[in-house]
Amino acid sequence: MFEVYIHVPFCMRRCGYCDFNTYTAIDMGAGASRSNYANMVIREMAIVREWQERHGIAEPTAGTVFFGGGTPTILKAADLVNMLDAVRKTWGIADNAEITTEANPDTVDADYVRELADGGFNRISFGMQSAVPHVLKTLDRTHTPDNVAAGIAAANKAGMRSSVDLIYGAPGESLDDWRTSVNTAIDLGVNHISAYALTVAPNTTMGRRIAAGTLPTPDDDDEATKYEIADSLLSAAGLEWYEISNWARSGYESRHNLGYWRNVDWAGLGPGAHSHYNAAPPAHVPVPPDGRCLIGGGNTEATSGLRSWDIAHPHLWGTAINEGRIPWAGSESITAEENLEETIMLGLRIREGLEITQFGGAITETTWRELEHDGLVTIEHHRAVPTLRGRLLNDTIITKLLETLG
Ligand code: SF4
Repeated sequence: MFEVYIHVPFCMRRCGYCDFNTYTAIDMGAGASRSNYANMVIREMAIVREWQERHGIAEPTAGTVFFGGGTPTILKAADLVNMLDAVRKTWGIADNAEITTEANPDTVDADYVRELADGGFNRISFGMQSAVPHVLKTLDRTHTPDNVAAGIAAANKAGMRSSVDLIYGAPGESLDDWRTSVNTAIDLGVNHISAYALTVAPNTTMGRRIAAGTLPTPDDDDEATKYEIADSLLSAAGLEWYEISNWARSGYESRHNLGYWRNVDWAGLGPGAHSHYNAAPPAHVPVPPDGRCLIGGGNTEATSGLRSWDIAHPHLWGTAINEGRIPWAGSESITAEENLEETIMLGLRIREGLEITQFGGAITETTWRELEHDGLVTIEHHRAVPTLRGRLLNDTIITKLLETLG
């Protein structure tokens, strides 16, 4: 399984809670402008493919392609289609591949969505966040619930699947506000809904307002209650959880995101995007500031793969591409021990759970039974699956298992 992620680091304006790698400037220099962005990503694809070949990494055709951001739909639809065409030429795309873009409801209309569908996209994920005007205002979101409904109608008409993202725990959001948002999302008729707890980074406008006391601090108990409300309403509507923050009707799960949780290979393109390879030569850490690729340069430690991350700033990222360098800020080998830890952390996020026999004696039957006794997991057919309580206390389970591993 091989996946491609393309990050689009542009937004119309920065939302007060957001610390993603995104920029409101139209042109960041070194070719990293909105109008030239597709060309730069296509050039990065060629460099990454050449790196893979040089290191003996032969990936199958891409099973999923995902455009995230930022706001991918700030670019022309033709730019997204051109990048998708380039993925097809570079790696190939499987016949039944899942091709998704995230979308800001303000930036798409029926013609835009139709152009994406004609270009090969078959899934669109709308950032809805809330259906309640005062919550949207707190989150600095400009769209209205009507825009979301219009976007989904356009996606349906174009034969695309759609999903909406919600955020819970915004300052001032009541439990009834949250019920309204979840029910509105359900009434939109989508087959996939994501719901994320608001995390407030201190370096954001919202983080500074909370630190200054002009906004209340999000409350863990409030967020836990809202998670339970979401799970209850979504399950009743026929959308079952398949990952801690994701619910879908059967067959509508996001295959791209499941790939991350199953730890498959993926190439991330664009400023700040991460890549992951299971079978890769050992890395020197980190790639130096001049970006020379030192991968495979003499480190003989046994590893279970490699992760790398692109330079975050678009100007420096563009400069590296213009100089023909792979635009990575760094890379590191994944040791066998780290790989085991990742397997635990990722496996305990998903409904298919963790195969417990894979840990041999490193995690004893007694440990698993204690977690089951505490109501945190169920164990059936040698798989541990987090319960609702276990999803809420996921960190507790992971901490206990990692301590057991020593
Ligand atoms: S639209 Fe999304 S990525 Fe852009 S600033 Fe707002 S939250 Fe961040």
